Amino acid sequence: MIVNMKPDATAEQIEHVIDRIKELGFQPHVIRGAERTVIGAVGSGGQRSALEALQVAPGVDALIPISQPFKLVGRELKREPTVVNVGGVKIGGGDWVVCAGPCSVESREQILEVARGIKKAGATLLRGGAYKPRTSPYDFQGLGVEALELLAEARKETGLPIVTEVMSTEDADIVAEYADMLQVGARNMQNFPLLRRLAKVNRPILLKRGPSATVKEWLLAAEYLLTGGNPNVVLCERGIKGFDPDLRNTFDLAAIALAKELSHLPVVADPSHGTGRRSVIPAMSRAAIACGADGLMIEVHPCPERALSDGPQSLDLPAFAKLMAELDRPARPRAVAVRA
Ligand code: PEP
Ligand code: MN
Repeated sequence: MIVNMKPDATAEQIEHVIDRIKELGFQPHVIRGAERTVIGAVGSGGQRSALEALQVAPGVDALIPISQPFKLVGRELKREPTVVNVGGVKIGGGDWVVCAGPCSVESREQILEVARGIKKAGATLLRGGAYKPRTSPYDFQGLGVEALELLAEARKETGLPIVTEVMSTEDADIVAEYADMLQVGARNMQNFPLLRRLAKVNRPILLKRGPSATVKEWLLAAEYLLTGGNPNVVLCERGIKGFDPDLRNTFDLAAIALAKELSHLPVVADPSHGTGRRSVIPAMSRAAIACGADGLMIEVHPCPERALSDGPQSLDLPAFAKLMAELDRPARPRAVAVRA
């Protein structure tokens, strides 16, 4: 339920409503807008009919039921876009950002070379996997803490905040100690114990969409983070399972537009995993931005043929610089002018 306070509601009236919501067994989520305060009463098991009586409480303008199953991530409760601050880089709210780096951190030389190169090309966030979710147990699993230290060194030199994946609840503290943003990988989107744990971590979260998750399931996964206490969540579309062997996944541009429509959370796009194909990444990057994405996540490796993971979808530094230079190019202008 959304409690819309009147524009001139006093602090006491707002406090009273918050107290009543708690007494009735719901959690209050207060959004103080420029014009008025809105309070979401969220939860199950509370006394709903008693909540409805708040209609006549002093300072209350109206009560509006929340129709979507995702209460806190939806636009019904919070219309204005959320801006998530990642080590000083703001994601959401109009502009777009680029996060780039290798699939896996492999060595000091590799991560430093990539960090310098992507910074020069205009990226403002560095990514790199330390703990890797690999389909086969025989594939490279990541350097763990050593990789976190190398990422921290790259941040120190370049000033780029770092984004890296956390795969399990046991690693949450150590990853949070080093990283500016914690990535929840696609395979872990519905790892509910992990989501509950990350809701209590004082770091923004990048929540990837599961390979076969609907947009609603993705938003409900984000709801776990918000309702558990972490409002700093960025959604990431990274493609869903498709049938075409020439594309690793189906990059779901409509899901970017839909997630932006349904949620106030920023949405970034990962066309590297979304397509698995280097040649189409620049076009899909421009398309994602045209669809409203608040940023891109792109895999870059100094020598993709030597990469220990995801080489075929990684751009080398010159290709990444070219992509960055082309990103500002508007959608293809029509060759024949349209008469008014
Ligand atoms: C990654 O970002 O390298 C990764 C493993 O991504 P995803 O979880 O989307 O597969
Ligand atoms: Mn990867």
